Amino acid sequence: MMPSDGMNDPITGDGILGVGDAAGQPSALVGEGIRWCIEAGLMAGAVAAEAVKAGDVSGAFLARYERQWNAKHARNLKIAHEINKRISFWDDEKWDRRTELLKMFTPEQFAEALKTNLTGAWAAKLIWSNPRLLKEGVRKLAALALGG
Ligand SMILES: Cc1cc2nc3c(=O)[nH]c(=O)nc-3n(C[C@H](O)[C@H](O)[C@H](O)COP(=O)(O)OP(=O)(O)OC[C@H]3O[C@@H](n4cnc5c(N)ncnc54)[C@H](O)[C@@H]3O)c2cc1C
Repeated sequence: MMPSDGMNDPITGDGILGVGDAAGQPSALVGEGIRWCIEAGLMAGAVAAEAVKAGDVSGAFLARYERQWNAKHARNLKIAHEINKRISFWDDEKWDRRTELLKMFTPEQFAEALKTNLTGAWAAKLIWSNPRLLKEGVRKLAALALGG
C-alpha cells in the first residue's frame, strides 16, 4: 500500500518533520515514491540540522522545509493526485478511449509525464500542440498545470 490521497497538510510541527509515505509525498500518478521520499529526507534533514544549530525546533522554524518542498513539488503532486482520483473511477470503455489520447504525446512528453513533471512549459507545449485535450475534459488539470 502507498498513500494516494495527496500530501498531508501540514507536514511539519513543533519538533516534528513528516517525510515520505507518512507525509503523503509519493506521486499518485504512477505509484512512485522512492525518489520523492529520498529527496524529502535530504531536504528535511538539512532543515533539521539548521534547526539544531539554531537551537530552535519550533514548527515555525521547521516550516522552512515545508515551504521548500511545496515550492518545488506541491503543484505537480496535486495534479498527480487529481488525475489519480479521476482515473480510479474509469470503466473499461473510458480507459480504452482515454489511452488513445496518449498518442498525442511525444516520447519526451510521455517520459516527463511519467516523472510527474506536469507543469509550466511541458503543459503549455502539450496543450498548444493538441488543443483537443482541452475538449476532452482536462480543463481543470490544464489550469492547475499552467498555474491557475
Ligand atoms: C507493492 C509496492 C510497490 C512499489 N513500487 C514502487 C516502485 O516501483 N517505485 C517507487 O518509486 N515506489 C514504489 N513504491 C512506493 C515506495 O515503496 C514508497 O513510497 C517508499 O518506500 C516510502 O518510503 P518511506 O521511507 O516513506 O516509508 P517506508 O519505506 O514504508 O518506511 C517506513 C519504515 O518505518 C517502519 N515503521 C513503521 N512504524 C514504525 C514504528 N512505530 N516504529 C518504528 N518503525 C516503524 C516500517 O517498518 C518501515 O520500515 C511501492 C510501494 C509498494 C507497497
